[in-house]
Amino acid sequence: MKFDHIIIRYGEISTKKRNRKSFVDKLRAHIRWSLKGLEGLEIKANRERVYILLHDADHKEVLGRLKNVFGIQSMSPAIKVDRDIEKVKEAALYYFNNLNEKPATFKISTKRADKDFPYNTDEINHMLGGHLLSNSEGLRVDVRNPEFNLRVEIRREAVYMTGEIIPGAGGLPFGSSGRAMLMLSGGIDSPVAGYLSMKRGLEVEAIHFYSPPFTSERSRQKVIDLAEKLAQINGKMKVHIVPFTEIQLLIQKQIPENYSMTSTRRLMLRIADKLREREDAMAIITGESLGQVASQTMNSMFTINEVTNTPILRPLIAMDKTEIIKIARELETFDISNQPYEDCCTVFTPASPKTKPKRDKVNHYESYVDFEPLIEKALADIDVLTVEPGQSLKKEELGDLF
Ligand code: ATP
Ligand code: MG
Repeated sequence: MKFDHIIIRYGEISTKKRNRKSFVDKLRAHIRWSLKGLEGLEIKANRERVYILLHDADHKEVLGRLKNVFGIQSMSPAIKVDRDIEKVKEAALYYFNNLNEKPATFKISTKRADKDFPYNTDEINHMLGGHLLSNSEGLRVDVRNPEFNLRVEIRREAVYMTGEIIPGAGGLPFGSSGRAMLMLSGGIDSPVAGYLSMKRGLEVEAIHFYSPPFTSERSRQKVIDLAEKLAQINGKMKVHIVPFTEIQLLIQKQIPENYSMTSTRRLMLRIADKLREREDAMAIITGESLGQVASQTMNSMFTINEVTNTPILRPLIAMDKTEIIKIARELETFDISNQPYEDCCTVFTPASPKTKPKRDKVNHYESYVDFEPLIEKALADIDVLTVEPGQSLKKEELGDLF
């Protein structure tokens, strides 16, 4: 006995009538990618559902891989069995024994498309119900509100059985919302912001500013490791590493200390926006959360945001740190983010950055400095990597390199 196929239900796609075909195509392509390397299975889709015909593939492995695919609302494994009542009973018990969570109550719902089958629906419900009851202790029937409803369909060619509903990742299929640039630091927040953006169907590219020799090669590696975690969800991720040392030194020299952080953020955003244009993306994503630190007060955001009118997506804006950490742990980025390597901003952070910086003041200070040539130079010297799942080096392998 084994499972025959997996039924996949679309989430919000169902409501988006006009884009439906392209959504389904994107979802199907991503399902195909996530099942790469598994032998023998077939993927079929129609307007309502995707079906994975398992053939020789292991249903648990398939379900595990589909768990992170955005755009899937739920999944149900299904059995196909011969029209022999003993085999149907055996299949019902097999289905029940393979449930992820053992229910306390159940019911059987049979539909008979083929009226030639020798038993009617009530008889089948009773036979299968009785078989489950006599093989599982403490199980009860509840026809009104069962924890598990085993659906049996008698068709001319075979009997089909399904019932367990496994929640999918939700969200929208990869790439269905276009492309955006994620400002990825080594911190806890920005990878989570990237993840949540991907969940809404964005294809994400990362931008990281680094300042050697003030920041080490290891802090750069940390960002690559974070990108690799995100790549596990979406296949691969382009990471743009921007050399930022010269600009930071110029800011340190020319901008009053209490405005240096504001200016630093404005310059990062200017560069990020130019890169966004180059990459044909439509938004910039940050891990900012309102009021978390000096650069994330409303006044700071108002002053920093002045340099662009590109949409800046801040998925974490209304979240508390504890909520963010919870997602970071699930995403397995938390431990990577917690490694102690310095970030370029931490190194240059002034003792008391302004929490209420003003636009006119920062514009006045910046008007004495010509950043343009250094911005162009930084853009010209960007290092572009494509991080693929499993490709990032392990810490031990890095060993004595640094
Ligand atoms: P995070 O945990 O994401 O580092 P944070 O709470 O430390 O966030 P900040 O350091 O103020 O906050 O950074 C705010 C946001 O600015 C980050 O979430 C990230 O999107 C962006 N950012 C900060 N430093 C860098 C960097 N070196 N490279 C790219 N983006 C950065
Ligand atoms: Mg940070």
